[in-house]
Amino acid sequence: MTQEKKYDFLIVGAGLFGSVFAREVTDAGYSCLVIDKRNHIAGNCYTREEEGIQVHQYGAHIFHTNDEKVWTYVNRFTKFNKYRHMVEVNFRGKLLSFPINLKTLQQLYGVNNETNAVKHLESVREEITGKDFESWAKQQVGAELYEIFIKGYTEKQWGRPASELPSAIIKRIPIRTTANDDYFDDTYQGIPIGGYTSLVENMLSGIDVQLGVNYLDNKKEYDNMANSIVFTGPIDAYYGYQFGALAYRGLKFKQQTLETDSFQNTAVVNYTEAEIPFTRIIEHKKFDYQKSNKTIVTKEYPTEWCKGEEPFYPINDAANKTLYEKYRLLSNSEPNVIFGGRLAEYKYYDMHQVIASALTKSASTINFLK
Ligand code: UDP
Repeated sequence: MTQEKKYDFLIVGAGLFGSVFAREVTDAGYSCLVIDKRNHIAGNCYTREEEGIQVHQYGAHIFHTNDEKVWTYVNRFTKFNKYRHMVEVNFRGKLLSFPINLKTLQQLYGVNNETNAVKHLESVREEITGKDFESWAKQQVGAELYEIFIKGYTEKQWGRPASELPSAIIKRIPIRTTANDDYFDDTYQGIPIGGYTSLVENMLSGIDVQLGVNYLDNKKEYDNMANSIVFTGPIDAYYGYQFGALAYRGLKFKQQTLETDSFQNTAVVNYTEAEIPFTRIIEHKKFDYQKSNKTIVTKEYPTEWCKGEEPFYPINDAANKTLYEKYRLLSNSEPNVIFGGRLAEYKYYDMHQVIASALTKSASTINFLK
């Protein structure tokens, strides 16, 4: 006779995927335990208060989506402010409007209306073939704009020549000929008032959570506690890197408190020159209109990820896609383990996409169990 297990689900990772999944199965009447190796919930969108300011500990997180279902869902757990993301680029000390739009073309070339902006981009576009990141970007904006805004930033962010990266990365960012300088096009945008941690805390309300525990080091013991496992960590680590390690980019953050009310115009300023080792400076108070006579800024330094460090960005080039596919096929043979989220699916997901994926996967799991 098999021994009855304590929980229906063990959820490994208290980030957005794990927390949404936990909420959904709990509300459907199943029991679950959420564990995380960090000593806090909310994964990489974790925020904490310092000097009256919500600090985005793992880099800027701006919620944006066109998916009404996801927007309604997150609004169940917290109120969002009306923040719309604006970014400036600092190139050789000059501040430029970004994403590339009419204002940018005006600053650089004196282009003064939409018709001329369209003409300008048409005249600089490169007639080259190629589907890689660099070719695609040059096909859209030509060599000079590519050098100013994209090449330096991208190559330090990803640690590889842009010609070896997939164009999907740069397609995330709009190119406009109007004066609209919003970073995102999405209808719904904002930051949770009081930070992301309280959003996730509310999602996990009434659910058992254990922090600072390592699942993979104690796998057998944890597996014995539940009928099904939801794993949101790196899929290659789950399988002991048996086919080799997937590549990730890591990040290092240098945070400073400054005795000044305001440091920069926008919450994020990108430093696009290759010679500057960081990619951007975040001024946290600007996400939430927080009043404090101090300000907290963080410089973000991309790094090549090594085993044991926090992985941030999956590198979806051809070699890594092939390697991931091997792990994915292997995971199909384990019906009691659900893999989800940025690391387990090896996808460059935004927060709204993680939530949509967790809602879909939890709904099909609940359906299957009925
Ligand atoms: N990017 C760029 N210049 C910039 C900002 C972004 O070339 O000033 C490129 C870069 O390759 C980056 C990608 O666009 O990795 C996506 O940028 P996004 O801001 O969406 O990145 P995330 O916030 O996810 O790091």
